[in-house]
Amino acid sequence: MPADYQLWIDGAPTDAASGETFETLDPSTGQAHATVARAGQVDAGRAVAAARAAFEDGRWSGLKPERRAAVLQAVAAKLKEEAGRLVDLEVRDSGGTVRKTRSADVSGAMFTFRTYAELATRLPAELPLPFTVAPGPSHNYLRREPVGVCAAIVPWNFPIQNAAWKLAPALAAGNTVVLKPAEQTPCSAIELAKLCTEAGVPDGVVNVLPGFGPEAGEPLVTSPEVDKVAFTGSTEVGRRVAALAAGTVKKVLLELGGKSANILLDDADLDLAADGAAYAIFFHQGQVCTAGSRLLVARPIHDEVVARLVDIAERITVGPAADPASDMGPLISAEQLERVERYVRVGQEDGAKLATGGHRVEVPGHEGGFYFAPTIFTGADPSSRIAQEEIFGPVLTVIPVDDDDQAVAVANDSPYGLAGAVWSRDSARAVRVAERLRTGTVWVNDYHLLNPRYPFGGYKQSGVGRELGEQGYLEYTQTKHVHVDITQQRARHRWFDVTIPRRRPDPPPGPSAGATPGA
Ligand code: ADP
Repeated sequence: MPADYQLWIDGAPTDAASGETFETLDPSTGQAHATVARAGQVDAGRAVAAARAAFEDGRWSGLKPERRAAVLQAVAAKLKEEAGRLVDLEVRDSGGTVRKTRSADVSGAMFTFRTYAELATRLPAELPLPFTVAPGPSHNYLRREPVGVCAAIVPWNFPIQNAAWKLAPALAAGNTVVLKPAEQTPCSAIELAKLCTEAGVPDGVVNVLPGFGPEAGEPLVTSPEVDKVAFTGSTEVGRRVAALAAGTVKKVLLELGGKSANILLDDADLDLAADGAAYAIFFHQGQVCTAGSRLLVARPIHDEVVARLVDIAERITVGPAADPASDMGPLISAEQLERVERYVRVGQEDGAKLATGGHRVEVPGHEGGFYFAPTIFTGADPSSRIAQEEIFGPVLTVIPVDDDDQAVAVANDSPYGLAGAVWSRDSARAVRVAERLRTGTVWVNDYHLLNPRYPFGGYKQSGVGRELGEQGYLEYTQTKHVHVDITQQRARHRWFDVTIPRRRPDPPPGPSAGATPGA
């Protein structure tokens, strides 16, 4: 019997060459909800070959940007039509609450396709360069060309949205793609590929390899037929991907971990900022790379802020992802639950004080689900592990700071630099602090808002390159400079003389003049 979800190669579903499958779990119950074909090295080879052939014959890259844009708009329309079904599937597969999945994932994916349909036609494929006579009189211009075959490797926290963040700009620029979803959340990527085909994306342009990192991901990263790897995931795996990609000097785009500082200045509006700080860490159970997991609070308001956050945390309903009453759903897996528990132990051993949470939550009727309580630590040393390492769960570390300078210093004392925020009634003051943070995104009096029109990515060990916006589009292009000589006269090409001996003067006409050379 074929798996419920198969690989998608060359415009059609197919089983893995090995015939192997794996189960994907519903994190709300801990039970398998579907079987999925398990891609391996042979399948990766097939998918890359399909993507290579589709790129080389120009069936997609050769279309005018307007044609590609129309197809991307059709993908967005299909996402809208199918939104209800996709939300249900994603809630089951990822454990994201129905409220989060509807607003962030499926509509986010749709908006991303629309945005890149617009950008594909707005950003010129050719740009003139200044006229020059030196070193040679010439007409010069740039062409933005697709990179080629792109591998897109995505994580489990925002499955369809992350897939769209990579597919839409790659496709807009004319690339072909092999997408590897996370093994925990393979379903929506396969559905998305199917929708792409139905919307008119030619066969072979989008291929999907559900499976595990070392089996389905690494062969993409090492393949000489893959031109670029766009990876979102942990910094640890990102390092390995970058090292493996170096073997074939692939372009890499890396969106990695974070330990973002959320700064509450002493004049913050606490009605706004306390809810904002809770949203920053507890949104999607803290399984968000931009999570505001370090809360730096001006000392005079520290106790009041902690009291408000504890109150919010204890009022949050942790429950099944499909229930609209659930504010927080389950964590993705048993492994993630254990990891979060481990960090809670580490925090306590290192001397931090648990203000609330720190334990699993039993949800009646969903005993096998991976639920964890919203958790707040105070009194942690800024250099301790819970203040420095990415936990990727609903665990907040609150740290008091004496002034804006200290807030900036503590915020920047991190190997990461993905995001952060500053809260103050005085926007100008908040902006001054925001501009001193060494991170790729900073919000002022807000959190987690990303827009496909604006760039997103990391400073320091949070990544390489930028996704989204124009910059995210350009990441999927490469620049060709074309130089066209405008003289076509040997005498004007004096620079040839640097290497090429001057021609001997023509011999005087003799008896053989006019004879055929060599005759
Ligand atoms: P997370 O910590 O969010 O689970 P990971 O970094 O482990 O993120 O995984 C992100 C993505 O990278 C997933 O699709 C995973 O299967 C893939 N992956 C994991 N290990 C490798 C690897 N060695 N090579 C390529 N991809 C990998």
